Amino acid sequence: MNDMILMKQGEIILKGQNRRFFETKLLSNVRHRLKPFGEFVVYATQSTVYVEPKDEACDMDGALDAMLTVFGFVSVTRALACEKDKDAIYEAAKKYLGEALKNAKSFKVETRRSDKRFPMSSIEISQYVGGLLSDEFPDIAVDMHNPELMIRVEVRETSAYVHARALPGAGGMPVGSNGSAVTLLSGGIDSPVSSYMIARRGIHLVPVHFFSFPYTSEQAKEKVLELAKLLTKCCGRLVVEIVPFTHIQEEIRAKCPEEYFTLIMRRFMMRISEKIAIQNNCKALVTGENLGQVASQTMEALRVTEECVSLPVLRPLIGMDKTDIVQIARKIGTFETSILPYEDCCTVFTPRHPRTKPKLQDVLDVESALDVAALEDEAVQNKYTVKFDI
Ligand code: ATP
Ligand code: MG
Repeated sequence: MNDMILMKQGEIILKGQNRRFFETKLLSNVRHRLKPFGEFVVYATQSTVYVEPKDEACDMDGALDAMLTVFGFVSVTRALACEKDKDAIYEAAKKYLGEALKNAKSFKVETRRSDKRFPMSSIEISQYVGGLLSDEFPDIAVDMHNPELMIRVEVRETSAYVHARALPGAGGMPVGSNGSAVTLLSGGIDSPVSSYMIARRGIHLVPVHFFSFPYTSEQAKEKVLELAKLLTKCCGRLVVEIVPFTHIQEEIRAKCPEEYFTLIMRRFMMRISEKIAIQNNCKALVTGENLGQVASQTMEALRVTEECVSLPVLRPLIGMDKTDIVQIARKIGTFETSILPYEDCCTVFTPRHPRTKPKLQDVLDVESALDVAALEDEAVQNKYTVKFDI
């Protein structure tokens, strides 16, 4: 069977002169994502990307699932291609959707014709195909207003296509089409979601994780790596930077007042992340911070945290409710891993009475007890990477 996948491009169709660039990125992401499922021919015309299997060995169910996670599409449909001829279209509809027609109570055929040279109008095609189908399947009624089964016919440049239900695509823009950013990835619920949201805007991510062995366990790190692996489905290849954070935290604990622990620690995270960003040509830092969620996320604390870096700090969750964040975490499949009960380096050193309205000058004074540059250099020198691909 000439079964294939049709995908409608999203926002990139609004691009002007550089649309070509976005489309090339999109096609390369699609090809990469299809690799585990066999050999396919992938091409784009008229704002649609076509995925055709080269042989019977292709896993079409797997390919369809994978295409639902590629950023850049508004809809994804499995379709049958056929000759541009009214009877061939009817035969294709009968063969492809016969089972569905037997099980539905009502149907309607809707046609779109982008090839205006085709000798019949859209309505004529729908009437012709719909008429033959209702003779063939007399138990199912034609319902123009609220059909249970909508059969769609598209007459395009080279072929006609028959399909039923279009599934919603992942939206967004092709990963990598809008540059790169460092994302601060902890083991919590929030940062995988903030990473996903920024990747969806076409950003290639470089995840950074701060790891405080033995205060946090190997399992806590494995959990973060598992989250990164889950994210590759939609974010593409990821090279996670693991930064040892133990010495920094011990120094903070030894030399700073307890109520400033979290703030000083978060400033180290930002500065080291910025260094990694510069090494990787990244133009922003992404965090899962959310206004008012914890003591370090008041407006005053955010100001103190971001004061030490000059790259923009993107906080896509800033105004969201926890329930909305959890909903996205469930949708992208990270929630179950995020709630595994392994401690995070922030929780191990959490002050009993953190400063919620810190003054920048006080923080700078407290921080001056530390050899910031030496601690950062040590951490950057001892970092290592773990690579993930789909
Ligand atoms: P999350 O659910 O993502 O852990 P949170 O609500 O627990 O967030 P915090 O623990 O204060 O909030 O962390 C705020 C943000 O700082 C995180 O969303 C993440 O971007 C970053 N962050 C925190 N801990 C780490 C870490 N160990 N490594 C990397 N980034 C971290
Ligand atoms: Mg956390």
